[in-house]
Amino acid sequence: MDRTAVKTLTLNMYINGEWKKAEKQRPTVNPATGEVIGYAAEGSIEDMKTAIGAAREAFDSGIWSETSASERAAILFKIADKLEEAKEELAALETMDNGKPYREAEADVEDAAACFRYYAGLITKPDGQTYSVPAPMQAMVIKEPIGVCGLIVPWNYPLLMSVWKIAPALAAGNTIVFKPSEVTPVTPTKLFEILESVGLPKGVANLVMGAGDTVGNTLIQDKRVDKISFTGGTVTGKHIMRQAAENVTKVSLELGGKSPNIIFADADFETAVDYALFGIFAGSGQICAAGSRILVEESIAERFIERFAERAQKIKVGNGMDQEIEMGPLVSEEHMKKVLKYIEIGKQEGARLVCGGNRITSSGLEKGFFVEPTVFSNVTSNMKIVQDEIFGPVVVIQTFKDEKEAIKLANDTEYGLAGSVFTNDGAKALRVIKKLRAGITWVNTYHFTFNEAPWGGYKQSGIGRGLGTFGLEEFQEVKQININLQVEPIGWFKN
Ligand code: NAD
Repeated sequence: MDRTAVKTLTLNMYINGEWKKAEKQRPTVNPATGEVIGYAAEGSIEDMKTAIGAAREAFDSGIWSETSASERAAILFKIADKLEEAKEELAALETMDNGKPYREAEADVEDAAACFRYYAGLITKPDGQTYSVPAPMQAMVIKEPIGVCGLIVPWNYPLLMSVWKIAPALAAGNTIVFKPSEVTPVTPTKLFEILESVGLPKGVANLVMGAGDTVGNTLIQDKRVDKISFTGGTVTGKHIMRQAAENVTKVSLELGGKSPNIIFADADFETAVDYALFGIFAGSGQICAAGSRILVEESIAERFIERFAERAQKIKVGNGMDQEIEMGPLVSEEHMKKVLKYIEIGKQEGARLVCGGNRITSSGLEKGFFVEPTVFSNVTSNMKIVQDEIFGPVVVIQTFKDEKEAIKLANDTEYGLAGSVFTNDGAKALRVIKKLRAGITWVNTYHFTFNEAPWGGYKQSGIGRGLGTFGLEEFQEVKQININLQVEPIGWFKN
């Protein structure tokens, strides 16, 4: 898609089957150029309440929740087809709004379409259970939609994180009120254009943009909402859980991480270096599961750090719309400042800055929010740069003597999202993986994830799982039904 062909975008809300302007607008900025590429509706508390009301009414009417699974699947398959048809446009818009290289954005659109197809298939498969209980009773379990689901997502995968929630929520028969990140509203709005075009009944899917502390807060506090599914930072997740407790609203939380990437001396050296680069610098490090702590066995540490830094400095950083670019900018100026501040903290804490550490202001990039791939070594576990999720292209490299110490360091974090092990010893790999307190793990690879397998974290990285059959269950209630096959009085009371 030709960048110059994009006009300034107008992004409206979608409430009760109609596009709605807001009184206020929020500019959305291309982080590679600093240019305003569009204006998104800044929803009000009233807009959010209207959307919740519409979703409630649509759910209670049964217009979606009481359709057959195959009817819903047919709609989901259509959404997948339309996503694929619009792949180039969506990928280009994602790159312009979020900054990620086009090839990453393109993969996200493909994954998004596959996710709709996966849940379209899954929802039509046999489900529920029967139990053998004493006669004359028959017991069984059926799954039902939860009701109105409030879905809140961050800015790092604006389209894909939306789809990871919307696809299973709709497949299960729920109605939704969706709030994208205020930083990246573009592809979520395009997704709602697709939802409209496939004929979802009005009120089933509602889109409200705006700030977390206004429209977001309204969504998590409203009694008419049965479930909140949230992806974002751990601090926000804790706030959401506290608010949801008031109405005992169910919550799923996909939160932050500080994931260890453990490299043993017997690993294939170049493969380990290659995946370690991919683990932290893909998405400019703005991936919840990023391998932001590399743990290397002492005997290869010097060689590893040298090779890793040599390659990190050669990563082509720039505007993701240029085909040869390998790493884009950070999502916003505010976020770039946060990352640069962490780099300063690292220096003050006494870590060794091996390479990077600066904003990139070379010709053509000076208006964007680019930060060099940054590597710290000689760190200790108590440093902030080792404990805090920086969410940028900044990695810390620690060393360990043996397997025991590797596991201890790996788990020395309040997070528990992901982790990886590189070794040629299969038994050691599985031993270490089993000791990792993390929900997503890899052996001799990094980042690969599949719609079929559950995604989520241990410890403060979250509650519940997205994707796979687990991801569908997050949007379902479980009902037991007990049937008396001998219809006669029980005779409990003798009078
Ligand atoms: P964030 O927590 O600041 O915001 C996430 C969303 O929550 C946004 O839509 C925001 O508007 C909304 N929000 C903020 N305050 C709210 C409130 N009081 N009530 C309701 N909603 C509110 O996170 P972010 O900076 O957008 O995203 C980065 C974070 O997301 C990182 O910590 C990253 O690890 C995490 N993340 C986790 C996963 C995962 O699967 N575990 C995936 C992607 C991102």
